[in-house]
Amino acid sequence: MIKRCSFCGKLQDQVLRIIEGPGRLFICNECVNLCREMLREGTEKPNVLSGDVLFSLVPLPDGKHRKGSSQRRQDALQCSFCGKSQDDGVRLLAGSGGLFICSETVNLGCEILDFEEEERTIKNAQEMKRRQ
Ligand SMILES: [Zn+2]
Ligand SMILES: [Zn+2]
Repeated sequence: MIKRCSFCGKLQDQVLRIIEGPGRLFICNECVNLCREMLREGTEKPNVLSGDVLFSLVPLPDGKHRKGSSQRRQDALQCSFCGKSQDDGVRLLAGSGGLFICSETVNLGCEILDFEEEERTIKNAQEMKRRQ
């Protein structure tokens, strides 16, 4: 099966890594990093290469619907990956095609990418040693 990032539309061989979510959702390492930067800086960032604005920050719910309020809004926007809404205390980013991703899922994606980066570094170091 061909994996394609559900947000920017890039194919598996156009990016370093595509992370698989539930329900045939995919996100690439570039989108994860873009989301991470947006969440950290709280500003919208266009994609460096294409200039497209792929994600926009969803405004926080107003005070009436603060975290812990007993009445959960039916219309609350939810993360397309894990189903959390901003009522659960996460920040949401709206992507293209009506998809959403939350700060927790972005962090998880970052962890996966960082872990694999480490593995690659270790592997490369081992290979270097072997060649010596
Ligand atoms: Zn992407
Ligand atoms: Zn999520």
